[in-house]
Amino acid sequence: MNNEAYPLIFERSTAGRSGFSLPENDVEDMEIESMFEDEYIRKEKAELPEVSELQLIRHYTGLSTRNHGVDTGFYPLGSCTMKYNPKLNEDVARLPGFSHIHPYQEESTVQGALTWMYDLQESLCEITGMDTVTLQPAAGAQGEWTGLMMIRAFHENNGDYGRTKVIVPDSAHGTNPASATVAGFEAVTVKTNERGLVDIEDLKRLVDHQTAALMLTNPNTLGLFEEEILVMAKIVHEAGGKLYYDGANLNAILGYTRPGDMGFDVVHLNLHKTFTGPHGGGGPGSGPVGVTAEFDPYLPKPVLVKNNDSITFEYERPSSIGRVKPYYGNFGINLRAYTYIRTMGAEGLRRVSEYAVLNANYMMRKLEKSFDLPYKQHCKHEFVISGKLQKKQGVRTLDMAKRLLDFGYHPPTIYFPINVEEAMMIEPTETEAKETLDGFIETMEQIALEAKNEPEKVQEAPHSTVVGRMDETTAARKPVLKYDFNR
Ligand SMILES: *Cc1c(COP(=O)(O)O)cnc(C)c1O
Repeated sequence: MNNEAYPLIFERSTAGRSGFSLPENDVEDMEIESMFEDEYIRKEKAELPEVSELQLIRHYTGLSTRNHGVDTGFYPLGSCTMKYNPKLNEDVARLPGFSHIHPYQEESTVQGALTWMYDLQESLCEITGMDTVTLQPAAGAQGEWTGLMMIRAFHENNGDYGRTKVIVPDSAHGTNPASATVAGFEAVTVKTNERGLVDIEDLKRLVDHQTAALMLTNPNTLGLFEEEILVMAKIVHEAGGKLYYDGANLNAILGYTRPGDMGFDVVHLNLHKTFTGPHGGGGPGSGPVGVTAEFDPYLPKPVLVKNNDSITFEYERPSSIGRVKPYYGNFGINLRAYTYIRTMGAEGLRRVSEYAVLNANYMMRKLEKSFDLPYKQHCKHEFVISGKLQKKQGVRTLDMAKRLLDFGYHPPTIYFPINVEEAMMIEPTETEAKETLDGFIETMEQIALEAKNEPEKVQEAPHSTVVGRMDETTAARKPVLKYDFNR
């Protein structure tokens, strides 16, 4: 790898060169000026790159090798489930019968697509223990918002306008309080106790007639199972509130327990995490929402209904919260998830949880020898360690994350959850081999040693990547996203 700036495709341009050959023009030239109004016609030359086909291929292939992806290396990004995305899913999503249909096509001509969508809903009901599912929401956060809007519609339909608060643990994913706020609620924080679980006494203190819902992730964002979940469900339900389950990371419990069995009323899933939708670079995602029967009237419309010999969309849904996404959700991601569920089968999905939990615990028990482990009990699919011992040696968690890049690893999620000092949140996922886990553990141990013996090496990392240490604040605050011809 070299450290020179990678030229833009425009900078590789040579006037007159081209990457294609067209047959001779055999039609008459037309004056387009006479056909359109002046303001729509560009007068200056379009500055397009002029390169050969080979230059073009090398340019983009070269760029792609500078990136880290789950197909190129270990990607233990906690809370994101960067597991392997089976290529079979891609093949199925590209079948012309699925990829060439149009969302406005007559329902009678797309019965195959509607059939698997219906089946997927049924499978997700079975997996979550819910009565119905909508496939519309395009991501986890939108699923949260959709679910909360349904909870809101439910309370308002019962004349219960005073339920203005949604309780969220301090360890929750940032989208939880954000979705609650966007759905028009006030997000209220419930504390986490010394074992990393919801503080029941604090919850009791907060729950009252103003509680619309408790939003919970279980296992929570520390990767820990909320042991008192049935007690919490009782407290909230007795006060007339509802239970919302953030099921973004379901690969800890698949086939073992279900949100419905824990007493939840509404749940969203992230098909782009647990169910193998490829989601590097921020999308596309899919965040279906499952609900108990009492929420059925409020589901986003249209709703799929199965008649005797066909499946159709029902649009007459007077109490629906409305459409939350154009058409019927992220079709291609839902199809990948459906393919995954069908290829894994019930037994396969159970094994997913077993391996995800085993891998995480294996790694956690090895790493607790070199790093502080704030919560000691067994974890589920992910765990959080703290870099506070290394901080005393002048090495921050950010430095260690950068150092991991030198060894070809994507760093874990860092400084999240916010209730752990110098947090590193690691999710190995079920798809990694033991050798990969061992390689990462060894590297982490080496970095811990370096932090003690040669801290500068870690503080100045990365040393071997195409781009060195960046000013992340400036990159986030003042991004330069377009090509400047005059630079
Ligand atoms: C990823 C995640 C979300 C948000 O999902 P997006 O698809 O990124 O909107 C919410 N909650 C948890 C626990 C998550 O891990």
